Amino acid sequence: VRVVFLGVRGSVPVSDAAMLGVGGHTSCVAIAHAGGPPTLVLDAGTGLRKLGSLLDNGPFRGTILLGHLHWDHVIGLPFLPNLDRADAEVTVLVPRQGPDDDALALLSRFMSPPAFPIAPTSLRGNWTFRFYDDGEFDVEGFHVLARDIPHKGGRTMGLRVADVGGTIAYLSDHAPHDLGPGDDGTGELHPAALELACGVDVLVHDAQYTADELPARGAFGHAAAEYAARLAEAAGARRVLLFHHDPQRTDEDVASICAKVAASATVPVDVASEGVTFDC
Ligand SMILES: [Zn+2]
Ligand SMILES: [Zn+2]
Repeated sequence: VRVVFLGVRGSVPVSDAAMLGVGGHTSCVAIAHAGGPPTLVLDAGTGLRKLGSLLDNGPFRGTILLGHLHWDHVIGLPFLPNLDRADAEVTVLVPRQGPDDDALALLSRFMSPPAFPIAPTSLRGNWTFRFYDDGEFDVEGFHVLARDIPHKGGRTMGLRVADVGGTIAYLSDHAPHDLGPGDDGTGELHPAALELACGVDVLVHDAQYTADELPARGAFGHAAAEYAARLAEAAGARRVLLFHHDPQRTDEDVASICAKVAASATVPVDVASEGVTFDC
């Protein structure tokens, strides 16, 4: 699996000079099989705009797998020329929100007038919109495990993506403290999180807050960086990358949080920064 971070910021894009080392774009991760172009994209935040640089000016042909439908994870959808052209072939997989919903209708609730000039059906190319549920499925030659995880406001899936080479877990937005404080007050190591992260090469995890901030900000639906490391340790993940950085954090802030968490962790802890590419 080749993984490229196109957007790593939580909640809203930022452009402050002191934040651009980590990156200002919101959640988007491009995934490819070794040696191939990216065919699977996790979330469609503003980072999706950078996918074009990996496509050699060609069309995108693949699947966009949305973990949930908050603005910061979908707002990039209409803004990438490689998607909006006659020869694009795009499947958008949406976590089912209710028994009677329609995937296209759900997306159209935020993308259509008066909220936006056009509806998803106005994008050029061959687009398919489908639901997925909690469970396992294959897409673009990857095996995916999707599990419901606690967040806030709408159904959210944590994802585990594997090919023959490696496995990553992606829990971009996660509020495990909603299920209880756990051993250290940052949240329960609940079965869905443990299953998703079990033995993965890389765990990509929500690190919007710190343990000290949770009492005041935990109600917004995000995890503490300390929890990400604790989950990696408990699940036997080989390393953890802190993701979904709070929009208030400078590069210095993020580095200092990471250093503090890494100092007491038994697995390697690093920062997910925009542009970082790795193979596993
Ligand atoms: Zn988010
Ligand atoms: Zn969210």
